[in-house]
Amino acid sequence: MPAARMSRAVIIAVGSELLTPSRIDTNSLFVTQRLNELGIRVRYKAVVGDHRDDLADALKLALSRADLVVTSGGLGPTDDDITRETVAAVFGLPLDEDEGVVASIRARFSARGLPMPAINRRQALVPRGAAALANAKGTAPGLWIERSGAACVALPGPPRELRAMLEVVARERIAPLSSGHGIFRRVIRVTGRTESHVDEAAHPVYSRWRSGPVPIETSILASLGQIELHLAARGATEDAAVGALDQATSELAGVLGRDLVSSDGSQLEAVVGGMLRERAARVAVAESCTGGLVASRLTDVAGSSAYVQAGWVVYSNEAKAALLGVDAASIAAHGAVSEPVARAMATGARERGGVEYGIAVTGIAGPGGGSADKPVGTVYVALAGPEGLQRVRRLSLPGEREQVKFQASQAALDLLRRALLR
Ligand code: ATP
Ligand code: MG
Repeated sequence: MPAARMSRAVIIAVGSELLTPSRIDTNSLFVTQRLNELGIRVRYKAVVGDHRDDLADALKLALSRADLVVTSGGLGPTDDDITRETVAAVFGLPLDEDEGVVASIRARFSARGLPMPAINRRQALVPRGAAALANAKGTAPGLWIERSGAACVALPGPPRELRAMLEVVARERIAPLSSGHGIFRRVIRVTGRTESHVDEAAHPVYSRWRSGPVPIETSILASLGQIELHLAARGATEDAAVGALDQATSELAGVLGRDLVSSDGSQLEAVVGGMLRERAARVAVAESCTGGLVASRLTDVAGSSAYVQAGWVVYSNEAKAALLGVDAASIAAHGAVSEPVARAMATGARERGGVEYGIAVTGIAGPGGGSADKPVGTVYVALAGPEGLQRVRRLSLPGEREQVKFQASQAALDLLRRALLR
């Protein structure tokens, strides 16, 4: 057992697909969060392809720099899965077949009415002295090796398998070796203010917390259509850290007022969904330039059938008129991207959907289609609500097509959020 408390980790993501433009290593983000909660910082991370030499070198370096090395991926049964053999070689341990592991892999296959393929026996190879970690969600067992002040844990690549296995190994094996001064994080989302305005308002609060008994570090990140405040508290216990975060968060909520979207990391669509549900109200959506993105985001939230009634993607002028009753003469006079048309779309969605709230988006996402008085990025979002409530905003959104679409969806959802706050 390592004498000193574990405090520094290195994460190695294994997989040649992670070196292509089509896949990204997300496992390390999850691993980082869990390690931080145990007070272990990630010193660096690496991504290596399915090559024994590269992985062996990465492992040796990592073991010289950290007291915990976490690998993800490459535990499968095929030839390009090299983590098991390479970890054993680096630690200088022979591989033994573990009968218990063979039995559990065989049982997994037979539960699906299949014989175990011979190649899966490779997954039952365990470096001598290492512990095989049960995989609740797949066949590949993980590995835990402890040696002279350092530990190495090999986790499977599929994210749901990795998460389940990490939960168990973190609790049972890593936590007892860590300092316990965990880092707990919280994300606060804000709309309707620039980064500097958020900083101006929040600075007095977080400068006080920076040097409190439970120190909280804050960073401000501008992301598309919103500003995020990331808080990280380091406490002697989870309760102390969470208590400090709760207090700091409520002070920040006080200074941010209606611009605060969420203080528990929730996305705007989930916040809006929660508000609709609480008020037993429903929404219908009319979208032009966002092509269904607003409806898609609303329905990303589980249980959204309780409040999402309908959505129309009315891309052409004819569709706006035929499906939502937008006056063709108004489109001709003002253009499809205009305040009256946005208003009429929202009203049309509200009436044809038979719901309390209609929201609408019409705009020019680019790169073509702009003009002098309506350049690319010009977007109108509109809302129609009960008792004649109407709101319209004209926006000039920066960025390329995809970014304009996302920010437009953000503005439409935020318009609804603010109406529901009344
Ligand atoms: P198996 O081959 O049994 O599925 P494995 O441990 O060999 O398990 P990989 O083959 O490396 O895992 O990866 C399986 C899947 O998990 C792939 O879809 C891969 O893209 C995904 N994956 C692997 N590593 C990561 C990672 N670091 N972040 C996100 N996804 C990953
Ligand atoms: Mg692989």
